[in-house]
Amino acid sequence: MQAEPVLLAGLIEACRAAITANSDHLCALDRAIGDGDHGTNMQRGCEAVSAEEATVSGLPLPEALERIGLTLVMSIGGAAGPLYGTLLIEMGRELRKSGREQDFSLALKQAIDAVARRGRSNAGDKTLLDVLYPVQDALAQHSPLTDIVRRAELSARLTGAMKAMRGRAAYLGDRSIGHVDPGASSCALLTTAICRYLEEHRPE
Ligand SMILES: [Mg+2]
Repeated sequence: MQAEPVLLAGLIEACRAAITANSDHLCALDRAIGDGDHGTNMQRGCEAVSAEEATVSGLPLPEALERIGLTLVMSIGGAAGPLYGTLLIEMGRELRKSGREQDFSLALKQAIDAVARRGRSNAGDKTLLDVLYPVQDALAQHSPLTDIVRRAELSARLTGAMKAMRGRAAYLGDRSIGHVDPGASSCALLTTAICRYLEEHRPE
């Protein structure tokens, strides 16, 4: 399975641009229920991946995803680094294990389950899982990219009504209700950036 170098490089840049444009917003969300650094952490991660974009885009897709995941673990820090890192590393491993015929959405499902185990959390705990699972579900149903974007954005908004069960926000208990989860929000932003880029560059 070969990564398409131009496509992968474009996706990396689209993700970096989306996070950079929304860094302040992500920090503001994190200030409400956490320590206020989610935007800067994510931006650091995206810039670290961009810095090795030339190397990464030359790799086969599974290896590229694993490499990006490792870079994210090392650069994002906080709680989000290991979670986003696990997602991409496991995604790469799953794709490599089963090769070209592997259903992409199945590999994503297994990677999300690995994130859930890593974070000892479940859907409904007000984390990025609350965006990842609905996005995976939409992908598994072969939903159009525009529907996947809508699902991601709606799912992030819905974390506002949830009570945080994991991370710093969990210490707030009921006071976490009414605030959108920063991790869910960055996840929706990245999903949107990826889908919009694919829509423009690889029409279905
Ligand atoms: Mg934070």
